[in-house]
Amino acid sequence: MLATVGAVTPSAHACECVAAGAAAAGGTARSAVRAGLIAAWPLALLLAAPLTARAATGTERVERVLAQTPLIDGHNDLPWEIRARFGGDLAKIDLAASTAALPAPPDGAPLMTDIPRLRAGRVGAQFWSVWIPAATRGPEAVQMTLEQIDLVKALCARYPADLAMAYTAADIVRVHKAHRIGALIGVEGGHQINNSLAVLRAYYEGGARYMTLTHSSNTDWADSATDTPAHHGLTPFGREVVREMNRLGMLVDLAHVSADTMRAALTVTEAPVIFSHSSARALVDHPRDVPDDVLELVAKNGGVVMVNFFPGYVSEARRRWDADRAAEQARYSSPPFGGLYIGQPERIAAALRAWEQAHPKPPVALADVADHIEHIRKVAGVDHVGIGSDFDGIPEAPVGLEGVDRFPALLAELGRRGWSDAQLAKVAGANLLRVMGQAEAVSARLRAARAPSGATFATLDQTPALPGPGAR
Ligand SMILES: [Zn+2]
Repeated sequence: MLATVGAVTPSAHACECVAAGAAAAGGTARSAVRAGLIAAWPLALLLAAPLTARAATGTERVERVLAQTPLIDGHNDLPWEIRARFGGDLAKIDLAASTAALPAPPDGAPLMTDIPRLRAGRVGAQFWSVWIPAATRGPEAVQMTLEQIDLVKALCARYPADLAMAYTAADIVRVHKAHRIGALIGVEGGHQINNSLAVLRAYYEGGARYMTLTHSSNTDWADSATDTPAHHGLTPFGREVVREMNRLGMLVDLAHVSADTMRAALTVTEAPVIFSHSSARALVDHPRDVPDDVLELVAKNGGVVMVNFFPGYVSEARRRWDADRAAEQARYSSPPFGGLYIGQPERIAAALRAWEQAHPKPPVALADVADHIEHIRKVAGVDHVGIGSDFDGIPEAPVGLEGVDRFPALLAELGRRGWSDAQLAKVAGANLLRVMGQAEAVSARLRAARAPSGATFATLDQTPALPGPGAR
């Protein structure tokens, strides 16, 4: 989820925006026959084939790949949208029908997720984010997280023909074979454990299989990419969090953390890490993206970077336009007293409209996302790249990737760029399955070797107070 600065709005919540189905089993043989026929065509004939015929061939390839390998998306913020827009009441939203036309909040986007579109997008498994605002701390953060975990399970209970909870790599494969969509839980911010390894363990027991070490602001033990550095990586307690996650078998998610925290976590972890929704910083200089030196470390670690679709993370022109627009907005309105039109919403809106007319928003499209996937493949290797859309956590999506039904179009684009079926399978889900399996193996070894960590934030990070006069 994006978070915006200042007041958190329901729409912009969670991820990056806010501040503050089953493939037809019978299709495989038919497709293979067609592929054979196509292979036998003379090249000239193939080149002369109408565009539509060639496009259909790409679609069939993607169908074939996704019938064998579950497509696994690393990050979707629908649970928070259900909480923010419908009070967490599943009776108020029908996910069996399109949600695209449901009314959106004034500054929010139409919903990007529903079951028909998940099916059309051939999604095999989805990590559902149980994000809560970074400003929510303490016991309230824990309660809200538990409620969001409960909501994901309620989703599965309400739509049992389509969604099934998954806790392991083997679960994902089994659920995919049964033509259902695996539902996994990701905790999107270390602030959600309230500095307690016991809470971390309870989240694992509740089903969480990754935790992002920070969201948009620092925790007491790790720096965020979008906050002023305080720890320059991980504190001693932060390193213990990573070690305990390794022991539990919970994936360490380095989306949202600072580059120093990425490097620190990669030094400590014994299991492969993930970036559940992050793109490549060499292409777009946003701190939410992953620098090349870290991509090289991820390759050594065996982890996977799952590419985020947010326009401001995949287009440098768009990132700069976003910054310019934010500056312009601040010029018009800088509470409590500054700005040319402070307190006059109509004048502010009119001035922004005029500015946007004079400065058209740079278009961002599916090809920009494909560029990031290809860059990560070039630097880290094809075994270390995946997909982490951030749908329903971003206020806007690239043209061609408007919702969860569009994943096959992204894979088809990679196919057009020369990716083999085996490579498409890796980016779609095989890499994440491998990482989960390895994290499970590391967990089995560590659980046999050591007990749950008894460390506390106070003992590791807080300097003991010196005894005062007369103290015993
Ligand atoms: Zn996020």
